Amino acid sequence: MTDFSDRVEQVSISGIREVFEAAGEDAINLGIGQPDFPTPEHARQAAVEAIEDGQADAYTSNKGTLDLREAISAKHDRDNDFSVPPENLIATAGGSEALHLALEAHVDLAEEVVYPDPGFVSYEALTRIAGGDPKPVALREDLTLDPAAVEEAITDETAAFIVNSPANPTGAVQSEEDMKEFARIADEHDVLCISDEVYEHIVFEGDHHSPMSYAESDNVVVVNACSKTYSMTGWRLGWVAASERRIERMLRVHQYVQACASAPAQFAAEAALSGPQDCVDEMVAAFEERRDVLLDGFADMGLDCPTPQGAFYAMPKVPEGWTDEVLDRGVVVVPGEAFGDHGEGYARISYATDMEQIEKALDVMREATNAVR
Ligand code: PLP
Repeated sequence: MTDFSDRVEQVSISGIREVFEAAGEDAINLGIGQPDFPTPEHARQAAVEAIEDGQADAYTSNKGTLDLREAISAKHDRDNDFSVPPENLIATAGGSEALHLALEAHVDLAEEVVYPDPGFVSYEALTRIAGGDPKPVALREDLTLDPAAVEEAITDETAAFIVNSPANPTGAVQSEEDMKEFARIADEHDVLCISDEVYEHIVFEGDHHSPMSYAESDNVVVVNACSKTYSMTGWRLGWVAASERRIERMLRVHQYVQACASAPAQFAAEAALSGPQDCVDEMVAAFEERRDVLLDGFADMGLDCPTPQGAFYAMPKVPEGWTDEVLDRGVVVVPGEAFGDHGEGYARISYATDMEQIEKALDVMREATNAVR
């Protein structure tokens, strides 16, 4: 019988797409989840040269080229308080495939996966696709994920929990203490912690920390990507970092669904990771400036918004009807409920858009706020 699988029937197309499609062509788009900067020129050139030299024509090793994995390994030594040898890495088709591998390789049918709500839309969908049972956990008032709430949600049926810092859709950054707690929970409960670190470099206050730095067991898998750090969302290049046995299981999935990450993208990523990093600093400085303008605007309007400390999203609490009023006036923002039931009453505002658009959008938000009050 050509019926659809129950797993896929339970997954719907992301609510974010629906908002984009409903918006007119001239809309100011504050719904976007990708940086509005070009990919660094040296990364583009590395791909062009690899293509012209014929180096990117063939499959690479399933895990990715050794040169790329050495560049990722060196990146972890440079930027993080943990080391990952090249053999403990798989290059993937973006952070998305990395999340898919982590869940597919570790979650059995009906096992639970705990994740933040509101949280990145893929966590629920990929859990269902892996046959798992999604267990969203409400955030603290400051929109960070409370380790105590995660620990409370863990049962004998829990296979994994997901931590995302800096976070989409909230911009929240978890403290070092929280990350130590997540590591302890992974160790003590023998549950996998999937740490989604795709925004690790986009931090304005404090530092990025990873549970990988503190776990004593091998119960942490790190998911990362070039997408946000180097404005390379279209290249589709990410990776998973984990212990040998976990990498071996994830490779079983990766080699059949993907074979290898795109070869030209691997060359571009290697150049981005090992080349000059000032492009990242410039982008982060621009995001911080825009965030501050937005926060001032929200404060003027009387909208309560926890200060986002990273990524390029803000998540103010908004009055009922506000999001529709803003959308009707031609500014795309994403209703908080697109990210989970606890997102209701919030809107996600992306500031991966230039300052002129942000200023115009703030005028519209002001009108919308007055209209619903
Ligand atoms: N994780 C988070 C938190 C994200 O926001 C995104 C993309 O928006 C991803 C993972 C997936 O990133 P990629 O484009 O590398 O697949």
